[in-house]
Amino acid sequence: MPKKEAQAILPAYPSIETLAPYQIGKPIEELTREMGVTDVIKLASNENPYGSSPRVTLAITQELDKLARYPDGNGFGLKQKLADFYEVSPNQVTLGNGANDILDLLARSFVGHKDAMVYSQFAFIVYGILAKAQGALGIEVPAVHFAHDLAAMQQAVVKNTQTKIVFIANPNNPTGTVLEIEEVRNFIANIPPSVLVVIDEAYVEYCPAANHRALLDEFANVVIVRTFSKAYGLAGLRIGYALSSESVAEMLNRVRQPFNVSRLGLAAATAAIDDTAFIERSNQLNIEQRRWLGSQFDALGLGFIKSAANFIMVEIDNASSINQALLAQGVIVRPLQNYGLDNWLRVSVGTPEDNLRLIDTLRSILNNDAL
Ligand SMILES: *Cc1c(COP(=O)(O)O)cnc(C)c1O
Repeated sequence: MPKKEAQAILPAYPSIETLAPYQIGKPIEELTREMGVTDVIKLASNENPYGSSPRVTLAITQELDKLARYPDGNGFGLKQKLADFYEVSPNQVTLGNGANDILDLLARSFVGHKDAMVYSQFAFIVYGILAKAQGALGIEVPAVHFAHDLAAMQQAVVKNTQTKIVFIANPNNPTGTVLEIEEVRNFIANIPPSVLVVIDEAYVEYCPAANHRALLDEFANVVIVRTFSKAYGLAGLRIGYALSSESVAEMLNRVRQPFNVSRLGLAAATAAIDDTAFIERSNQLNIEQRRWLGSQFDALGLGFIKSAANFIMVEIDNASSINQALLAQGVIVRPLQNYGLDNWLRVSVGTPEDNLRLIDTLRSILNNDAL
């Protein structure tokens, strides 16, 4: 059936009709299927290139004979573990099917169609998607030097009295920019207490300085969102969580799906937290390789934004054709047209081997004028 006809018969909520879906980093299997390229490296979704802790494999194996049973829908063990780790009550922890699930729960619990959400230009694109999904007003505040302009965001919140959530991504994806905790603290102090300040810390393990945990005790309207998808290397299992006040957690718990985290996810995350050495090692390697990539971009004459996370946003003319040329060579990175960043690519920091291949491939593409 032609698309138009389907829309006429079943009109979606108006803001959904104009909603552009989230664009994922191209899966390796898709590139192989579409272009016949086999030896593929993926530096497009900020996954941990070193996998996950060996403890995870063991923990998952022990669950394999229990897959017929539903998981613990209350996530008791993992919540307790996170509560101990962060010195909060288990009632302050909400588990999600990835941090995206948590962001979605927040929007669905606190934002209606007459409300507004505030976020920065060039911030994680999901915030704008959530605003549209709720039929709410998404207020995008212009960035300064690719970073959040907290003063302007504070003004936008105060001016738009229907604001229910303001999002801060720290470090931010895709720019890699980071805010000082003191700046964030001052920002929250000037936000009405009835507005939720959602701090997305998806990359905090790569940037321990951007740990906002202390703010949770100072402000009842702070929500910290974290994930096992990045440094913990569990993107394929989908586990994220929020730390918040008990009353916010109670609201999220009303809205969430009964078994929103899988049995394997719960077991894997519970085991992963204990392996702090794995996180430290991943962080160390990331710092070294991020520095190396920066030096290589310098050598190629490419500008880039200094990053606090495990990816770098690099400036490149004809980014879209360069991206195509990289794909043809089996190198997947992330184009950023959907962010309005046409001349930029975001590359995840990979293993030394993958990074070398990225740079070699990029150099040969740039040296070949036949693009
Ligand atoms: C990757 C990412 C997330 C969520 O990832 P999940 O896989 O859903 O846990 C959230 N916020 C930012 C900024 C991210 O980059």
